[in-house]
Amino acid sequence: MSSIKLYLQIKQHRQHPNLPVYWWRRQPLDQWEVTRQRIYKRDRGICQSPSNAPPKNNELCMGKVKLRVAHIDHIRPLSSGGSNHASNLRTLCPVCHALRLDRKHDGMRSSLVKKGLIPVNWKQFVWDEVVSDRSSR
Ligand SMILES: [Zn+2]
Repeated sequence: MSSIKLYLQIKQHRQHPNLPVYWWRRQPLDQWEVTRQRIYKRDRGICQSPSNAPPKNNELCMGKVKLRVAHIDHIRPLSSGGSNHASNLRTLCPVCHALRLDRKHDGMRSSLVKKGLIPVNWKQFVWDEVVSDRSSR
């Protein structure tokens, strides 16, 4: 873990001492599965990318997806101090998730190109919202 990540986690934990430490780390898999299903149900299985996100504007978004293919996204990434609280989580379809600005998604993107779900020129559809540094989700 990088020292900046560790610093953010310690800082978050001091601000919210009653919350478990995993709140700002990846949850253990069995726990994540419970969280995943809860967020999916809350969002009724519908991709929650913003209506002005390019994948939605360009009809690449898959809309309603099955639980098995739904991606649960951290709006503010854990690596930037985001939490596993429901307010920081949302259901995304694989296309919108893969096209969210994040270099870690390169592998996802190339497999979606192979499946024909996103175009080869996917770069123009990449999106991200500005996440304020002061908001602590
Ligand atoms: Zn979508």
